[in-house]
Amino acid sequence: MPGLYLHIPFCRQACTYCDFHFSTSTDRSAVLDAMELELVKRSKEIGDGRVGTIYFGGGTPSLLEPGRIAAFIQQAQDLFRVERDAEITLEANPDDISAERLAEWKAAGITRISLGTQSFRDERLRWMGRAHDARQALSSIGLIANAGFRTWTIDLIYGLPQMTLDEWDEQLTIALDHGMPHLSAYCLTVESKTVLAHQVKKGGVHMPEDEDQSAQFERLMERMEQAGLDQYEISNFGQPGHYSRHNTSYWEGVPYLGIGPSAHSFDGSSRRWNVANNARYGKALREGSSYWESETLTPAQRTNERLMTGLRTAKGVDIAKLEIDALRINSSAFQRHVSNGSISMVDGRLVLSRAGRHFADRIASDLFVTDDDR
Ligand code: SF4
Repeated sequence: MPGLYLHIPFCRQACTYCDFHFSTSTDRSAVLDAMELELVKRSKEIGDGRVGTIYFGGGTPSLLEPGRIAAFIQQAQDLFRVERDAEITLEANPDDISAERLAEWKAAGITRISLGTQSFRDERLRWMGRAHDARQALSSIGLIANAGFRTWTIDLIYGLPQMTLDEWDEQLTIALDHGMPHLSAYCLTVESKTVLAHQVKKGGVHMPEDEDQSAQFERLMERMEQAGLDQYEISNFGQPGHYSRHNTSYWEGVPYLGIGPSAHSFDGSSRRWNVANNARYGKALREGSSYWESETLTPAQRTNERLMTGLRTAKGVDIAKLEIDALRINSSAFQRHVSNGSISMVDGRLVLSRAGRHFADRIASDLFVTDDDR
């Protein structure tokens, strides 16, 4: 069932590694008003109007007054047929969490909190430019766990400079000891135009070797398996019943409507992305001018997207549903990855082995097709 994504493009401060679209301005109402306008304008883009998931991402949605979150949810319910048991996620940072706020979000209809924890060590959080400290990370988890949400998740980052396996183990132990039902764990990557990229270029920061990051990924998989959290996507682990429905829809190619500056949308055949500039976005919505670009995906692009996202999931890729027969066209690459144990066919689905999960993107790209292959 289609999902609704709302991009809240504001943060308290800029994290050094982040390349998401956000502004640190405290003057937020013009953009938020424009998002309400966009919701109205685009409310007919979801075929029968049924919405199964709503996701407040960013940026930092927890910066907003809870009343503004409640108003967006109410507006969505007025414009769409939001399912009675819809998953409604709010991304939140530890420095915004209090028992009162959690109660207000819950009353507004939020069913799932996604906490941007990243680390339980103060020196790491400072280095990343995060606005919270370790004490806030721990206390906010305690509050969320007891707030009565249907489920919750935390984010952690590994592959940090000089991170040892012991440090990573310690991070995972702390998270597991707090009973998290779901974890998103991301390896630090250097994105261009970030402060981190500048630091690496100037030689002030040395990124770890691939083998170190790989060993931490392996330890992550071991620890989550022992703890009973399924790796249902390369970077996502959940207890049964606690998987992210919204993100699962992305990975399965289900249409979604993205609202707000920089938000992407997908209608099953074309992608559309809003301008990643708050002022231009707001002005265009107010004046009725264009604020997005779009492209219609070709059969090869659709096939490659299915390979890229599907291979990252435990379910794998339903080969019969690929528009172009990527395995026949790339038969030698396919056979090579089968022979070296990276991938296998299970009931008509192409799935990665545990070893293959270390190279998911490379394996997918080896199987990519072009429109000339049709
Ligand atoms: S809080 Fe999140 S979106 Fe904002 S700068 Fe940090 S990582 Fe980026």
